[in-house]
Amino acid sequence: MIKPGTVAAPQHDDMSRPPAPADAPPADTAPVVFRARGLSKTYHAGDVAVPALRAVDLDIRRGEFLVLLGPSGSGKSTLLNILGGLEVASAGTLFYEDHDLTAADDEALTRYRREHVGFVFQFYNLIPSLTAWENVALVTDIVTDPMPIDEALSRVALGPRRDHFPSQLSGGEQQRVAIARAIVKRPQVLLCDEPTGALDYATGKLVLETIARINAELGTTAVVITHNAAIAGMADRVVHLGDGRIQRIDVNAHKLAPSELSW
Ligand code: ADP
Repeated sequence: MIKPGTVAAPQHDDMSRPPAPADAPPADTAPVVFRARGLSKTYHAGDVAVPALRAVDLDIRRGEFLVLLGPSGSGKSTLLNILGGLEVASAGTLFYEDHDLTAADDEALTRYRREHVGFVFQFYNLIPSLTAWENVALVTDIVTDPMPIDEALSRVALGPRRDHFPSQLSGGEQQRVAIARAIVKRPQVLLCDEPTGALDYATGKLVLETIARINAELGTTAVVITHNAAIAGMADRVVHLGDGRIQRIDVNAHKLAPSELSW
């Protein structure tokens, strides 16, 4: 396992190269970092109770690349948001290492998110008046041991575009700035909610390639939501959700590179 912070900044401005092989133990021997048991979430809209997650049991190992797959409304975002400390479960338990996230108060959840989790969403949420470099720099003020900003931009192959504003970047490039912003704090966990949902095919692949590279090179545990079954080929494991439940979990004996996926 490569520990965050021990690797020299790579020069990744050539996106055609495949990610370096993961120097990580096999996924089934790495330590469990998330342990969910009976995890449930029910939303209340007026008098109506909406069960979004129903008694989910799931272990996620350090360095794993996990894809959450399922139709709209199957509970993917709810599970991701609970893993990321953005929402709290209604029942069950969820541990991140020795942190009991189901018992954490707002302050503890904020600390957990800040110290451990990088988020990437479908829409990039960049600040239009700031350059790529400045958008990433915003995060480094609030964390203790950030990666150099230029390293974060280099890891998403945007070194040469550091001084460009979001309006001067394509959708895929903006998403890669968002990934740089997520990884600059060296998070142990990268949570991505439909990261390619707003992108065309080729650009989406570059973004997936970037996420796979971060997972492989930094050992960052990655959980990626998609409703695109083709993306599942690049995961270590694919968790199929339906109606708030885990329907099955597939293990990929041979992960595909994003360039090998087609949809
Ligand atoms: P997915 O990400 O798979 O599309 P979600 O986790 O977003 O699914 O939603 C699961 C279910 O929970 C859906 O029925 C959705 O309508 C409901 N839901 C999600 N968020 C809320 C909310 N804030 N209030 C009420 N219902 C919600």
